Amino acid sequence: MKVMKFGGTSVGSVDRIKHVAELITQRGKNIVVLSAMSGTTNTLVEIADYLYKNNLTGARETAHNLEMKYFKVIEGLFQQNRTIKEEVVKSFQKIFSTIRSLIHDGFTARDEKIILSQGEMLSTLLMFHYLSMKRVKVGYLPALEFMKTNNDGEADTAFIAQRLKEMIEQMGDKDVYLTEGYICLNTNGDIDNLQRGGSDLTASLIGACLNLEEIEIWTDIDGMHNNDPRFVENTAPVETLNFEEAAELAYFGAKILHPTCVLPAKVNNIPVRLLNTLNPEAKGTVIYNFPPSGKIKAVAAKDNITAIKIKSGRMLLAYGFLRKVFEIFETFRTPIDMIATSEVGVSMTIDSERNLDNIVDELKKFGTVTIDRDMVIICVVGDMDWANCGFEAEALQALRDIPVRMISYGGSNYNISLLVKKEDKVKALTALSRRLFN
Ligand code: ADP
Ligand code: ASP
Ligand code: MG
Repeated sequence: MKVMKFGGTSVGSVDRIKHVAELITQRGKNIVVLSAMSGTTNTLVEIADYLYKNNLTGARETAHNLEMKYFKVIEGLFQQNRTIKEEVVKSFQKIFSTIRSLIHDGFTARDEKIILSQGEMLSTLLMFHYLSMKRVKVGYLPALEFMKTNNDGEADTAFIAQRLKEMIEQMGDKDVYLTEGYICLNTNGDIDNLQRGGSDLTASLIGACLNLEEIEIWTDIDGMHNNDPRFVENTAPVETLNFEEAAELAYFGAKILHPTCVLPAKVNNIPVRLLNTLNPEAKGTVIYNFPPSGKIKAVAAKDNITAIKIKSGRMLLAYGFLRKVFEIFETFRTPIDMIATSEVGVSMTIDSERNLDNIVDELKKFGTVTIDRDMVIICVVGDMDWANCGFEAEALQALRDIPVRMISYGGSNYNISLLVKKEDKVKALTALSRRLFN
């Protein structure tokens, strides 16, 4: 048994839902995880945004437009079967009345989570009824009955494994099992989610908890490409990645894979396959445990980076300086992505400015602080063992005409990170593709 996760674009229209239904039925008894139809979660975020701004009319109108959109989808999927159509309409009315019941003053974060969870409920309901109409025996596994997070906001894998096994056993034999991605319950028993793009994590957790044969992530492109296809032409799929390489790429901006979904698969040694719903025969990318390949595999970019430099004479020949600096980031719960040090200064990057002012205030007690905003981390990923002579030189050669603010190499055996200005991002990615892959 495998777990197959279909992203928003894969189920983004009537035709796509029909196509995915076909694909699911051809591939045997698996667990299918669905995202919301593309655009839906963004619309739900917009509704919540109106509510935070106390614009109830804006929220109502947006919810109404979304509802109308779904009624068209229902029409397209169930027009031949009135009984099923009426049943689906009833379930949808329930979902939309839940949304409308939250359109009131005093909107809370808890209400927001409930609203955001409705997208996956809608898509899963559509698929459940569509498959049933096609006489497929579908077992519906409500995510809110097994996907749970613990006090640290992390997945409670023991609970998930136990509940899923029980639920599947109680359900008996089915042709396919279906569940919602992204949504979960937190320790308070409230509806919550696994962060934007989190359906990948749902799939990975299910694969890991049930020790399944493979985790398949079906999307709109034939696997992980060697560069970001949104910014660079002529990118090509990478056939294999190991978990470390995949984790670096996902974390540093390769949107095809959610960064958190690599770990459960890696720990349980379950291969992850990235496949294209629109071209199911394409090989895609398989991610599994294998030794370093001696190759540079791919490049990715992470946006909205801020670089912070602290320079201090006190750092010279002193110990304990870096500890003090890092403690400030810990106090303000801000992770550091890149670091470069010299004897008199240290540069670091962060991807959130939420606590920047506080961090800078504290850092100023220890030295002179400089900030560079709107930076991008360019990450070159592959077998970057230092014995592989010349790999770092190739990356740097590619960027010879671009100002590089920081370089980080040797932190792991899998990447070189380079910090450049936002306006140089596309130029840098393109230059790297030309030099490394063409
Ligand atoms: P889904 O909705 O199926 O989860 P996503 O939009 O999250 O899909 O991820 C797929 C998209 O990721 C692709 O359409 C592509 O534009 C983008 N992407 C960014 N970097 C890469 C890469 N290196 N390889 C493949 N796709 C990438
Ligand atoms: N629907 C959610 C989102 O758009 C989760 C997902 O697609 O993975 O972020
Ligand atoms: Mg995604």
